[in-house]
Amino acid sequence: MNKRITSTTLYEQALDVIVGGVNSPSRSFKAVGGGAPVFMKKAEGAYFYDEDGNRYIDYLAAFGPVILGHAHPAVTQAIQETAIDGILYGAPTSKEVEFATMLRDAIPSMEQIRFVNSGTEAVMTTIRLTRAYTGRNKILKFAGCYHGHSDLVLVAAGSGPSTLGIPDSAGIPTSISQEVITVPYNDIPALKGALAKWGDQIAGVLVEPLVGNFGIVPPAPQFLEQVNELVHQAGGLVIYDEVITAFRFHYGGIQNLYGVEPDLTALGKIIGGGLPIGAYGGRRDIMDKVAPMGPMYQAGTMAGNPLSISAGIACIRELSKEGTYQQLDEMGARLEEGIRSSADKHGVQIMLNRFGGALTVYFTDQEVFDYDTAQTSDSEQFGKFFRLMLEQGIYLAASKYEAWFLTTAHTDQDIAETLKAVDISFSKMES
Ligand code: PLP
Repeated sequence: MNKRITSTTLYEQALDVIVGGVNSPSRSFKAVGGGAPVFMKKAEGAYFYDEDGNRYIDYLAAFGPVILGHAHPAVTQAIQETAIDGILYGAPTSKEVEFATMLRDAIPSMEQIRFVNSGTEAVMTTIRLTRAYTGRNKILKFAGCYHGHSDLVLVAAGSGPSTLGIPDSAGIPTSISQEVITVPYNDIPALKGALAKWGDQIAGVLVEPLVGNFGIVPPAPQFLEQVNELVHQAGGLVIYDEVITAFRFHYGGIQNLYGVEPDLTALGKIIGGGLPIGAYGGRRDIMDKVAPMGPMYQAGTMAGNPLSISAGIACIRELSKEGTYQQLDEMGARLEEGIRSSADKHGVQIMLNRFGGALTVYFTDQEVFDYDTAQTSDSEQFGKFFRLMLEQGIYLAASKYEAWFLTTAHTDQDIAETLKAVDISFSKMES
């Protein structure tokens, strides 16, 4: 099975007209040995169908948003019904009020909300807002955490416990990246050190309250509480980037599960039901700084567009149904158990981090709690595993740093089929 002749042809054509052949670098197969990515034709429920007619069980979930599975009837119906009435007004609608209220009810720290078009925009604006509110310039982020592609956050860790930022992309002036301080995740002493040095210049600290971008890495006990306390002591604001985590593990933010509230929150992915969206919000006195109320400008032609809002409402409504997150957690537990037991059986060294219906398999013998430990995962082993799974019709993200995301569309049968593929893959990876 699994001839992908059409994908290969399309990739050759794409390379000519689309830079790198893909519209987002994480869709390329560069990190897993290169070659043509799979060109998809359609998707339904937990399945992808490619241009050559192969079927895959999908654990990508479009990098997170598709938590209900593809083409969910409630979301599709909402989009169809909305489209008939016009898809873009540039004027406010009742649905925006309804959706903002739903989000605030689920994440009460978001006292006021503004819709934007992507997670990148949402985070970028919260950064500007912390600067507008505090009158300071620097921000602090944790190494390896991805917060979108705006200039300020494309900064990785340098060496040492904390460092002034080195740009992770060409085209970012050092003057901008020098405003970013990076410290390791789950490392309170490093945070304290950075705050001791730059605390009076730091406007905001960006936190993935549970990391999704070097795999699934939960915060250490008391980490979030201590971040809040230390940053507030230094006069800065805490921003939670919940672009991945909101509504992924719980009806609301992960902040509500952990019982720790930030000053500002950025959302995206799931809240658009698969259509482009972002949102930011937080304390009313901070949000008062946003135009037209205050001096911080932010705007968007497409922001709050009826299609994204309707799809989001439909998606969140589905997620509010009883048992949703229990189902995702149970399936996650079954996957975890099966993967671990196959790894043991075949002597493949893995570490597995799971939270609810999301997990990451690291090919390492080290516990993963920050970016450095995540980097110990063997790229070659992962690449081999990825390809073996793909050949058996299991679609994982093409990066050792991404999560497997379960959806409410996955069935027991899908899990069983997946575990069989895992077992065969590991049997071929035995050392
Ligand atoms: N923040 C986090 C935690 C993300 O994972 C991502 C995207 O993967 C973003 C922000 C950027 O979101 P978008 O791709 O919608 O711009």
